Parts: sequence; structure tokens; C-alpha cells
Amino acid sequence: MDIDGITLSVVIPMYNEEAVLPLLAARLRPVLDGLGEAYEVVAVDDGSRDSTAAQLMGMRRLWPQLRVIRLRRNGGHQAALTAGLARSVGEYVVSLDADLQDPPEKIPEMLALARRDGLDIVYGVRGDRSTDTRYKRWTAGIYYKLMRRLIGKNVTADAGDFRLLSRQTVNALLELPNSGGQVLRLLVPWIGFPSGQVAYVREERAAGRTKYPLSKMLLLTLDSVTSFSAAPLRLATMLGLCSVILCGILLITGLFAYVLHYTVSGWASLYISILFLGAVQLLCLGLLGEYIGRIYTTVQGRPTYFVGYDSADETADELVAVR
Ligand code: UDP
Ligand code: MG
Repeated sequence: MDIDGITLSVVIPMYNEEAVLPLLAARLRPVLDGLGEAYEVVAVDDGSRDSTAAQLMGMRRLWPQLRVIRLRRNGGHQAALTAGLARSVGEYVVSLDADLQDPPEKIPEMLALARRDGLDIVYGVRGDRSTDTRYKRWTAGIYYKLMRRLIGKNVTADAGDFRLLSRQTVNALLELPNSGGQVLRLLVPWIGFPSGQVAYVREERAAGRTKYPLSKMLLLTLDSVTSFSAAPLRLATMLGLCSVILCGILLITGLFAYVLHYTVSGWASLYISILFLGAVQLLCLGLLGEYIGRIYTTVQGRPTYFVGYDSADETADELVAVR
């Protein structure tokens, strides 16, 4: 396929999505074909262990605009998304979840809005979450509340990774130094280019199960917080300050007790204060460690993903490490 003159790239990260792939193709293709634009669909297989990759390669035969990028190993949603953005060539890039929770039918609307108003970013904003599971609503609710509090009000609540970006925005995002744990849905509002919104109804996952268990959700939250805010460090300082004041008071009472020869029964208070101070210190050390770890990986410049194969590459056999 000729990659010059492509106006729209649709980037879709996929991890073990064999169940949903046929449904996705059936809904996405008519929309894109109907646009009358030169487009590419960049399917990023994030190290799936099921038949996702094989199915994609099969679909390519009938759908020349489908481009398949395979990562060597599972790097996570954000890494796969970054890989897709980095390799896409379109003038506009839409990112989409594979599970049809983001309706492909909204893509023409996003594109039209971006063109009409000369926007760099068009967010897909969830109008309604009633079809999400209760677990999802609960975790997402906490996540966005936390992010807004820590990072600021410009984090659009309920804007996930369904959005359109202009080429300039994609380039600006990719030029940012890589911290290993980039959270695009926070970086995009931070970049703050002219933006608009398109409302959509979040549908249920069309097939398969969520690829975001609690552990990945927690990791995303940790990455989100530490890559955008030093507030937890300040919290550590405050905790330290409080314990210093508390210790000061205890010191004075201890001195008094010593002077008054009242020093026999002190086991409980000693026990508790040692435990408490130990816990506070460990917590603060852990917090510091989180930041230092991120500085460390940034300094090392470790790649967040490894591209194993790109159907648009001639030299597809080489291992290409992209930073
Ligand atoms: N995903 C991925 N790598 C991962 C986990 C998820 O590429 O390690 C993809 C997944 O295939 C889907 C998108 O990220 O296209 C969002 O995942 P999912 O729909 O499972 O998340 P949820 O909607 O439950 O938050
Ligand atoms: Mg989903």
C-alpha cells in the first residue's frame, strides 16, 4: 500500500483480542471506507498469546489498509499506543480500543470537527457509563478524581484513550523525553493544544474480558501520579513533620517521667511508637523509591516497547528498539 498522502491513521492496541477482532473489522471498515479518504488502520499487537496476530495477518489479505505491527512482548496499553502513534503516518491519528467500547462511527464526526475548527485534539468524552461494570465505574471514578485533584482541572473527566490528534500533536508528544511510564491521556491535556470534544456512549465490551485487572489499574495510577505530580513527596514531608512534632512532645513527657521516676510501665507506648515511626519511614522511603526508579529508567533511556514486525517495513526481521 502507498503510504504517501494518508490523511487518517486509526491506531488500535490489542492484547489477546481474538474474540473481538471480527466484530471490530465488521464495524470499523465500512465507516472508514465510507469516508472517502486515504487511511491506514494501525493494529498494534501487544504481544498477544492467542490468535490475534494470526487473525490480523489473515485479515490483511482482504483489507490492504490494515497495517499490522507486532511488539515483541507485552508492554501494556500505553506502550502499545505509543508504538502505534510513533509509526502512524496520517495527517490525523485516531486512537481506539479494540473492544468496540469506543464507537468507530464517531470517527467521521471527530475528523470533521477537527477540520472545521482547525483543532489539534478532539477528545471522545463518555456521556454515560451505565454499561460499564460496577468495578470499572468505581475504579475509574477514583482514578479521575485523584488525577483532577493532583494534576488540575484540565484533565477532562471520562476522556479515555479515544481521541483524535493532529500530526503536530503526535510529533510533540513523541518528542517528550520518555519516562518509561507515559500516560497519554494525561500528557495530551497537558500539551494543551486547541481541542474540542465529541460525546459518545460507552458501550459494553463486545467480546472477551477486560485486559485491565486491578494490578494494571494500580500501576497506571502510580505512573499517572508520579509522572505528573510531586504531591506525594510533599505528603511524605508533612508526615515527617507531624512525627517530628509528635516526637518532640513525647520527648518532653519522657524527660518529665524520668525526672519524676515514673519510668517502669512504658512498654505499650514504646512498642507503638517504634512501629509507627518504622511504618512512616518505610512509606516515605518507598515513595522516594518510586520517583527515583522513574528517574533511573528515564536516564537509562530504556525502550518502552520493541517492535518485532511491521507489515509496512521492508526490513521487518530486524529487531528495532524504539525509544
Ligand atoms: N491492551 C493492550 N495491552 C495490554 C492491555 C490492554 O494493548 O497490556 C489494549 C486492549 O486490547 C484494548 C485496550 O488496550 O484494546 C483497552 O483495554 P480494555 O478494553 O481491556 O480495558 P478496559 O476497557 O477494561 O479499561
Ligand atoms: Mg475496554
